[in-house]
Amino acid sequence: MQLVFSCPKCEQTVRATEGLTEGRYRCPGCGDERTVPESAWRKEQLCRCLACGEKDLWRQKDFPQAIGLAIVGTGILLSTIAWAQYRPLIAIGILMLFALADLALYSLMKDVLVCYRCHARHRLDSSVTEYDRFSHETAERYRQDAIRQKTQHPPTADTASARQDCGEYREPSS
Ligand SMILES: [Zn+2]
Ligand SMILES: [Zn+2]
Repeated sequence: MQLVFSCPKCEQTVRATEGLTEGRYRCPGCGDERTVPESAWRKEQLCRCLACGEKDLWRQKDFPQAIGLAIVGTGILLSTIAWAQYRPLIAIGILMLFALADLALYSLMKDVLVCYRCHARHRLDSSVTEYDRFSHETAERYRQDAIRQKTQHPPTADTASARQDCGEYREPSS
């Protein structure tokens, strides 16, 4: 798997691949060693952000929006040229072809899990269909939280993970 996150130490957006399922990983940018938040993994399932310990993650297509827009943009441009040359059928054909290419590419892409709080992206090897899609309500809550925390002092990953637990799951007490 892969974790794309913004390192709090060197403030770079980096990609970590090693040690994510074992409990420790390093920032490839500055070499800072980071600990995977406690109870981030429940069996094979990820239930916390590996970068900040937040438990709310949303599922998103791992599709670079810029590429999607570039495809659609090129389609519109070519279609406009065809239209200007009085070839309406070709113009519509081009537009449909590019829309189809966009759709095909989109459906081929795997899902990633994105953290609502720090926007770290988790590329898991397993399927992630059981996770929810983006919720504006949750995102808004995190946005408000972030504004509020800017005026206070920011919490550390430790307090964040202590604050919430992972869904219904409880560690056996014995
Ligand atoms: Zn770093
Ligand atoms: Zn996070």
